[in-house]
Amino acid sequence: MIIVMKNSVTTEQIDEVVKHVISWGAQAHVDRGDVQTVIGIIGDKAEILRKPWGSFAGVEKVLEVSDPFKMASRKFHPTDTIIDVEGVKLGGGHTCVIAGPCSVDTEEYVLAIAKAVKAAGATMLRGGAFKPRTSPYTFQGSGEDGLKILKTAKQETGLPIVTEVMSIDQIDLVYRYADVIQIGARNTQNFNLLKALGKMGKPVILKNGIATTAKEHLMSAEYVMSEGLKEVILCLRGTRTYETAMRNCLDVALIPYLQELSHLPVIVDSSHSTGIRPFVMPVAYAGMAAGADGLILEVHPNPCEALSDGEQALLPNDFEYLMKRLEGLKAWNQRDWKTQAKSTK
Ligand code: PEP
Ligand code: MN
Repeated sequence: MIIVMKNSVTTEQIDEVVKHVISWGAQAHVDRGDVQTVIGIIGDKAEILRKPWGSFAGVEKVLEVSDPFKMASRKFHPTDTIIDVEGVKLGGGHTCVIAGPCSVDTEEYVLAIAKAVKAAGATMLRGGAFKPRTSPYTFQGSGEDGLKILKTAKQETGLPIVTEVMSIDQIDLVYRYADVIQIGARNTQNFNLLKALGKMGKPVILKNGIATTAKEHLMSAEYVMSEGLKEVILCLRGTRTYETAMRNCLDVALIPYLQELSHLPVIVDSSHSTGIRPFVMPVAYAGMAAGADGLILEVHPNPCEALSDGEQALLPNDFEYLMKRLEGLKAWNQRDWKTQAKSTK
């Protein structure tokens, strides 16, 4: 349910509605726009519909939201969410490129990567210190030592840090170092972890699951947001299909699809979507051309020595080349497509 307030609504009138909603045992999430304020109500729909909305000052109308995701829905929050990570903005026309190694390895490599990607225009540094690996016998991540290396790289370059949390017991440690938390494909439906992160205060990049649908991906975002955190970034990293040519299969159409259903920023991970170096750049470009709000990419100067995913790591030169090619897309706005598509119907 959404309560749309009148343009002339006062703070007291909003507070009055919120107070009553809470007293009915439901949740109220206020979204104050420049022009309009809406209040998202989560609770027993039939019960809420029976309430005397007409008697509340400042209420314009009450709308039902049929989607099972509410907080993540564009109906709840009509304007794009813009996430600000230490001055780096993402969403609502602000694009960001997150780049770095799959796993944090040596300080020398991580610093070299951070400096190279920063010089090429990256806006955040990625690197896993806790790694979800298919085999328990492969490198599992360097833990706090890796997080310390990321911190040094941030001090040297100013790039905010994106790193993965795999379990609830890692939260305290990782939050001491990370600026943005990554939830990997294997944890997209780890609902207890999602709820725990929703109670914390740092933005979350939520990848789609190994075989989740777009709506299941949004429901996972809803798990985080229902606990209070508003800053969720949806990341498309491909899913497993019958096609085995690539590591995964990225559906580019899901970028505008998710942006239509949700106000959350949508970024593309073309490293894990393809798994093969020569395909990472064209798919990254395709994602941005389809209107993605950003990219997350793996980069390593010596992929043969990378501790994971070397075969999909871009060389710093590749990354620089891609960033130059992406410049040509900067003036482009995916809303143009939508206007055009509607006008030719
Ligand atoms: C990663 O980003 O290194 C990673 C493990 O990704 P995913 O969860 O998409 O497989
Ligand atoms: Mn990886």
